[in-house]
This record gives sequence, structure tokens and C-alpha cells, in this order.
Amino acid sequence: MQFLVESLIELITQTSTNLPPDVRAAMKEALGAETPHTQASQALNIIASNIDMAKDDEGPICQDTGMPTFVVHTPVGVSQIAVKKAIREAVAEATKRGKLRPNSVDSLTGKNSGNNLGVETPVIHFDQWEEDEIEVKLILKGGGCENKNIQYSLPADLEHMGKAGRTLEGVRKCILHAVWQAQGQGCAPGAVGVCIGSDRAHGYDLAKGALFRTLDDANVIPELAALEDSIMEEANRLGIGAMGFGGKVSLIGCKIVAANRLPASFFVSVAYECWAFRRLGVRIEAGSGAITQWLYRDPARPVERMATGAGFPLSGREIILRPPLGEEQIRALKVGDVVLITGECYTGRDAVHAHLVKSPLPEGVDLRGAVLYHCGPVMLEQNGAWTVKAAGPTTSSREEPYQADIIKNFGVRAVMGKGGMGKKTLAALEENGAVYLNAIGGAAQYYARAIDKVLGVSLLDFGIPEAMWRLHVHDFVAIVTMDAHGNSLHADVERETGRHLAELQKV
Ligand code: SF4
Repeated sequence: MQFLVESLIELITQTSTNLPPDVRAAMKEALGAETPHTQASQALNIIASNIDMAKDDEGPICQDTGMPTFVVHTPVGVSQIAVKKAIREAVAEATKRGKLRPNSVDSLTGKNSGNNLGVETPVIHFDQWEEDEIEVKLILKGGGCENKNIQYSLPADLEHMGKAGRTLEGVRKCILHAVWQAQGQGCAPGAVGVCIGSDRAHGYDLAKGALFRTLDDANVIPELAALEDSIMEEANRLGIGAMGFGGKVSLIGCKIVAANRLPASFFVSVAYECWAFRRLGVRIEAGSGAITQWLYRDPARPVERMATGAGFPLSGREIILRPPLGEEQIRALKVGDVVLITGECYTGRDAVHAHLVKSPLPEGVDLRGAVLYHCGPVMLEQNGAWTVKAAGPTTSSREEPYQADIIKNFGVRAVMGKGGMGKKTLAALEENGAVYLNAIGGAAQYYARAIDKVLGVSLLDFGIPEAMWRLHVHDFVAIVTMDAHGNSLHADVERETGRHLAELQKV
């Protein structure tokens, strides 16, 4: 199988950089359905441009390329050991080429392996079949949406939904609750793969497996087809909207599978997938390892462009921020303001935050008046210089335990990420004169183009995504979603959508 590794590198590259047609179609519909000039519609416009940019430049659609998960079918006689070896080689090479972010971290030491290989990484599921060819399907599901997966054990009492029993009605409540609890943190609009039944471990597997169905297919089981349709209709009445900004489109797909269960257990497992729904597959000739066919793609159909205009049409009302930022300027900002940042900013995510609450700033880093960007970029070192390959925001809520102290201790004026933060951070913003800025989740190519230069890096031993990068940006667009006056768009949307969820309970 001399071409197998190259075929797999191509599969990984295409999956990471070029969304499949069914997802493009669903996102196009979302764009058309959203009310123009709202924050949700602005987010969708940026997402559309980002999808085009990723395809044009063959760059990762989102910087979080997730846990690469392969589902492989092999004919009798093909060595699964050889296929596994080829997959691992292809994953390491695709990482080296900047198509995958180094995402594999030792759970005991926190050390990043640097090549996406490690214990049980990548995930590979094998099966044999009676066909002559090898089939490899791949899904790249990032951490933000993976963290919003949820499992219910029925009967249960659900917030805003009341009692959910061991019936399809109970399952319906669980799925709607699952969409609601994700809010914008899994980069809505999203899709859900659902498994009714099985056990805890396999139920999650089957839920993720349901995401391999295309968004436009119909369930072969009539009751489940009807449930999928009603979830789509009802979930889009919740009002979560793109990025959780509030809006008409919250869900682009619902795929349900039912598996047998133990009499004593009734699990509903939900895999929440973000809009950056990266899933593709290939058929491979077993002798040569060459690709014979792409799955999820129609070769007769050209790749549809997504953006209809500029990614973010400027209105002239945007507020220019040039760090270092002063307290007065920041206190003047309010929820809903759109800002354009030009100047320096620093990245910092989980490892940096955990470090800074017990250690001084690294040499040469000054956070007074700074913008601290929750971002784990894809970076490539070429000829001694770093190039940004993808740089969208990461989920900010993970930094909630640390953020207030870091704002206070180091004088940070703007924290930027996605999905919003909690009460402790909101209080710290008010007390210290700082704001939270929501960048558009997954728009990794769009934001990479707003970075002119990598000015330096500290704490690189944490690994590329976790290091503290000093960047120079221009016209970096974000929305104030938590201000220095105790206002939070995230809290407002959660409350309002909770009210809508409670209304659906009564249907
Ligand atoms: S689009 Fe959002 S949730 Fe999806 S992988 Fe990217 S950052 Fe994570």
C-alpha cells in the first residue's frame, strides 16, 4: 500500500480545511435565516468568510482540530496493524504541515507530545467488512464542543424542563436541554448526535457516530425521523443564536440512534458538534492505498462559496482600541459595542492562567492595559520565524477560577475569548475597570489574517497552543459581551433562552 500514508494525509488535510457540502448548505441556510445586522448575523458572516479562506489557503477552518477520530473498515486480509501505523504516520506529518494543531497532552504530566500522537491518540475504531476496499472516515471535533457533550440517566429532573421519563417524550426533553446548556460555548449553531440507550461508554460512542450521518438525510426509523424534525423546529425557537449572541438559528442538525439497553438503565447520550463540523471519508484501493472515492462529496458539484460580501461589513460605529488601554476608555464601553483592536495583545489559556496565579509574569511581559486573548493558535516555525496558521478564540469559561485574580494582579483591561465568563469575572471587570470581548469562535483563518506579526513567545515549554504569544494585530474585531457595569449578554441570553425552554416543556 505505497500510497496509503499520502492518501491519509490528504484525508486529514481536506477534513481540517474544507467543510463538507451538507454542512456548507446548512450554514448557508442559517445565514439566510438570521436577521441582518444583528450580532448573530455578523458572527455568521465572519464564519462564512472564514470557511472560504480556509478552503482557499488550505488552512485549518478552526485552530482546534480536536481529537482526530478515525472509523476504519477493512476487507479480510488487510493488516489493521499496517493501517494503524499509516494513520499515525499521517497524523504526525499533517501536524508538521500545520493542518492539525498539536493537541495531544499527557494527562499526568501535562506535556504536549507535539505531533498529536500519544496514549490512545489518535482514536481509531476498526471493523472488518465484506467489501474489497478500505473505508476511512474521520471526524475532527474540537474541545469547546466536546466539553458540551452531556449524558442523562432517565428518569431525571431537568432545569426548566421538569421531569423526563423513560419515554420518547423524556428523550425529547433531554435533547432540548442539551442544546440549551451548550449556549454559545460549543460555537453555535451546532448539531447533535444522540444515542438512546446502550451503556454509558458505548452510548457516547454511538452518539458521536451519529454525526457521521449527513445533515440532510432522513432517519430510517419513522419515530426517530419525526423526533429529529421536531427537535430541529423546537431548538431553533430557543433563541440561542450564533455564538450564543441570541438569534434565530441554534441548531443545524439532529441525528438520533437507538440501541438496546439494560432493563435498569436508560441513558440518553448527546454529542454536541460545533458549526465547524469537520467530517469526511475516503474509499481506498486495498492493494495500492490510493484514494478511489471521496465520501460526503459530490465530485460533480463544485465547492460552494459561503460569503456573499465582506466578512464583517463596517458600520463606522466600531470603537478602535489601541493597547495599552486606559481605565476611562474601557469603562465607557458597554455590552453590544463592536471594537476593532490594533496593537499588541497576548494569548493565554489554561496553562498560562494556572501559572500566573502562582508565579510572576514571564520576563518582558507587561499586562498593564493589555488585551489577554484566550487562544491556542496553530503556529509553524519557518526559517527561525513563527507564522500564525490559525488563531480563533477558545472557550473562556475554563479560565473562570483564575481570571479575576489575573485581571486584578496584572492590570489586564480586556479579556477576549468566546462563550463568556461567570459571576466572579463579571465582578472583577466592574471592580477593576475591564471588559470581556467575544471574538467569533472557530473563525481561525479570519483572525489569523488580522495578526500582522508574532512579536515573541513565553512559556513555550507548555506546548504551542498553551504558550503565551505576543502578537501585533490590526482591526481585530470583537463584541463587548460583558462590560465594567455588571452587564453580561451571556447571562441575559441564558435567562431568556431558559424561559423559552420552559415554554417548550408544556408542549
Ligand atoms: S468552532 Fe469552536 S467549538 Fe468548534 S472546534 Fe473551533 S473553537 Fe472548538
